[in-house]
Amino acid sequence: MTDNNKGELITLAADGSLQVPDRPVIPFIEGDGIGRDIWPATRVVVDAAVKVAYDGNRSIAWKELLVGEKGHAATGEWLSDKVLEDIQRHVVAIKGPLTTPVGRGMRSLNVSIRQKLDLYACVRPVRYIERVPSPLRHPEKIDMVVFRENTEDLYAGIEWEAGSEQAREVIDLLREKMGFNLPADSGIGIKPISKTNSQRLVARAITYALENNLPSVTLMHKGNIMKFTEGAFRNWGYQVARERFGGHTITEDDLYSKYDGRCPEGKVVIKDRIADMLFQQVLLRPEEFSVIATPNLNGDYISDALAAQVGGLGMAPGANIGDKCAVFEATHGTAPKYAGQDKVNPGSLILSAAMMLDYLGWKQAADVIRKALQAAIRDAVVTYDLARQIDGARKVSCSRFAREIVERMG
Ligand code: NAP
Repeated sequence: MTDNNKGELITLAADGSLQVPDRPVIPFIEGDGIGRDIWPATRVVVDAAVKVAYDGNRSIAWKELLVGEKGHAATGEWLSDKVLEDIQRHVVAIKGPLTTPVGRGMRSLNVSIRQKLDLYACVRPVRYIERVPSPLRHPEKIDMVVFRENTEDLYAGIEWEAGSEQAREVIDLLREKMGFNLPADSGIGIKPISKTNSQRLVARAITYALENNLPSVTLMHKGNIMKFTEGAFRNWGYQVARERFGGHTITEDDLYSKYDGRCPEGKVVIKDRIADMLFQQVLLRPEEFSVIATPNLNGDYISDALAAQVGGLGMAPGANIGDKCAVFEATHGTAPKYAGQDKVNPGSLILSAAMMLDYLGWKQAADVIRKALQAAIRDAVVTYDLARQIDGARKVSCSRFAREIVERMG
């Protein structure tokens, strides 16, 4: 483990706000597969942006944490308790993608990190960058942030294989005590959605909308069918909006019945949409949606669908945020066929790092990154994934793309 101990720890004040020194220690997980390509590219961009933004008066002391294949090779553990403690102690961390072997019984390391550290909000901004190829006619109308609940719903991992003793016991219980007759060869999954976890997620989404002066929070759910899980999420969402943010929120009904369709200054409109309808509406009327708060599985689907509309996974940033710490991450996987080829787009991890800088309160550095990345794309200097869709593009490698971004930093 490489450890740069010349920095200082980020700490949390009693009110939950971050205390960030001028040289914070920030742990990183390089990740598997293309992690070894996109992490070094990201680091170059972040270090340069911080230097440019603060004239050399701020910098980051990076500290590597070994997880995934690197962790297994070094310590025999894919994800150790020590790593989890380290992330918690440092309050903020960043990670590349990690492999999840399919059907080999190992739980996703990404899901484990989110659940063990109680990083309950998966935050994914979806914004169009000029010249990025999009299947939409007006991708510039998309400017949304998805808040996806990260710890429960079908991702809680409570499931039993068809034919297992546990599945049989649950099937018997459902038949004997609840009157449901399921086929005996059913696999069983449980979908828990709690009031506490729904409300803390929606509260975070509303706080984000208020802090960033955004017009609305849409509760996305499938409550017409799953009334006591998805429907309850919707109801608890409205409840927390009313009870904790009453002075700052209005419902969509109020908007039309009391305010003639014009939202009063400083208020956020809370509305809800059934999941399938929202998939249509974000395509047909994207300008009507700003912050979207939703349970785990819906959030998984909608955030990737939205990412595809503004350039695909290579450009989609994300963060997993809890009350005690936050982990910023590329939203795509390890793309093993490209690993080590210095080929893929580091944009997702670079934009995630910009989110991390925003979170630290280092907004100038974040803006430097976003502007320089936009400038490179506007000049059509891009990696293979975008080059194959932009006429006349200059195709560059992953590391070259990072250097092109740095060259455009003012
Ligand atoms: P993936 O790694 O996201 O790759 C799928 C395809 O997306 C790639 O073949 C490539 O498309 C494109 N792509 C992904 N990242 C890109 C980038 N940075 N630049 C350009 N194009 C990019 O999905 P997968 O193949 O389904 O998953 C591989 C492994 O990653 C699995 O073990 C999975 O569990 C894991 N995974 C991890 C995370 C995470 O760590 N958060 C998330 C998802 C998946 P083209 O082939 O068209 O060029």
